[in-house]
Amino acid sequence: MSDDIERGVSLAQQFLLSAAARTLSLSAIARMSDEEARAAFQRIRWAENGGEPYCPRCGCLKVGRIATRPVWKCGDCRYQFSVTAGTIFENRKRPIRDYLLAIAIFVNGAKGHSALQLSRDLDCQYKTAFVLAHKLREAIAAEQAGHQLAGTVEIDGAYFAGHRKPANKAADRIDRRLAEEQTGKRKVVVVLRQRGGRTLAFVTRKESDGVAIVRQRVAMGSTLQADEASGWDTLYAHYDMKRVNHRVEYKAADGANTNQAESYFSRLRRAEIGVHHRIGARHLLQYAREMAWREDRRRVSNGGQANEVAALALGHPVSREWAGYWQRSFPKQAAE
Ligand SMILES: [Zn+2]
Repeated sequence: MSDDIERGVSLAQQFLLSAAARTLSLSAIARMSDEEARAAFQRIRWAENGGEPYCPRCGCLKVGRIATRPVWKCGDCRYQFSVTAGTIFENRKRPIRDYLLAIAIFVNGAKGHSALQLSRDLDCQYKTAFVLAHKLREAIAAEQAGHQLAGTVEIDGAYFAGHRKPANKAADRIDRRLAEEQTGKRKVVVVLRQRGGRTLAFVTRKESDGVAIVRQRVAMGSTLQADEASGWDTLYAHYDMKRVNHRVEYKAADGANTNQAESYFSRLRRAEIGVHHRIGARHLLQYAREMAWREDRRRVSNGGQANEVAALALGHPVSREWAGYWQRSFPKQAAE
């Protein structure tokens, strides 16, 4: 992984990405007792404090372990907390080792992992796997907020979501694309990909909306490489721009290309078609960022990736969307 990514992560994450910490392979987790899994979560969650817990509410370092349960009590505010309190794993119903297993299985699927497959792997209900996978995705997506790119950056956009296979007989087909653009179901994923750096994904209504995102996320003085889509033209005023015309060639005479951006889109497309079958507009951003994360970590070991996802998950609060999601939405949203 490049220095640019390393610079963007916290001290705790740097520890977790180090070779010494890359032990969370699927087979290592499968051999763990529940107690060992809890200890692994503890090391990861409080990595920046040497694995020693501190109060998630007031930050007090003086905490005591309760003798009868795997719970600590804050010496200052008296808050009692488990290793997963205040994280996406709060109110968990299953043995703690299953959550480490879920993370290891999730990172092993290079094209993503479907909730159906995860429910089979963990032998749990579909809805449990569905919510769990979305929580992991959300924690990964949150990590991409606020980053800036510099240097040479490829920019590109592509349509996702809202698509359905056309009917078999031509007479039954309607122009769904046009209809979906009008209803706003189809969205554009805009990707910014720094050469030798990281990948950031965004979702907009149309490709030209990506201009504002580029200006916000790419440092002045950077060189942009884009295709011939006219929406990007206004960026000439702010950046050194190199263009490639895809109707003619995939690499311009001056070397300009968007091949890294294309590679990202093909990964997202394979995830959409091959794994999830349909990605709704509502959660498109989370899938888009999951694939950006996977693309950037394609050379990191599975154990290293699992470590990082565990750290992101334990550093991410439970969101309003996924707390009690099924109680509110079932069965209406079952297929998404
Ligand atoms: Zn406290």
